[in-house]
Amino acid sequence: MQLPPENLDGYTFLLLGAKCQIRLVDGRNITFDEGAGIIGLPRKNARDRLVKWLKENAKRIFTIVTERKAAEMQTSFHSVTITSAKSKWGSCSYDNKLRYTFRLLYAPKEIIEYVVVHELAHTKHKNHSPRFWAEVAKYVPDWKTKRQWLKTNGILMEIF
Ligand SMILES: [Zn+2]
Repeated sequence: MQLPPENLDGYTFLLLGAKCQIRLVDGRNITFDEGAGIIGLPRKNARDRLVKWLKENAKRIFTIVTERKAAEMQTSFHSVTITSAKSKWGSCSYDNKLRYTFRLLYAPKEIIEYVVVHELAHTKHKNHSPRFWAEVAKYVPDWKTKRQWLKTNGILMEIF
């Protein structure tokens, strides 16, 4: 995995853990061929357009996953907000407002689910006590492997 070059044409990165290549196009709209793993990105303001698109998709997907996991864990949350944070994947405020960085969208779905379960577990335990980790383990038994994956793939934090 490499950081994006100035000219994004041909740059390949991961979306939900699957390879995705950028092709700069002359059109006005972003197109995404999921099967082929190709994003058609308008040349004009390409980088800004892409980040906006990633944030919109992050909001949609992370909200769905959070709602599903909250039901499974029998808990509730106040809201889901997408950030551009480079230092943390997610957070949960004292009043259960959840935040995720859009860069989490590069990770495979099971890693996203771990982060969501982690933040939702904070709606019950506002710390990283053994009881907190026991709650996480109920829904993600191999949470240690997932957490390690995020540490190993820290470069994902630097993309866009
Ligand atoms: Zn935490």
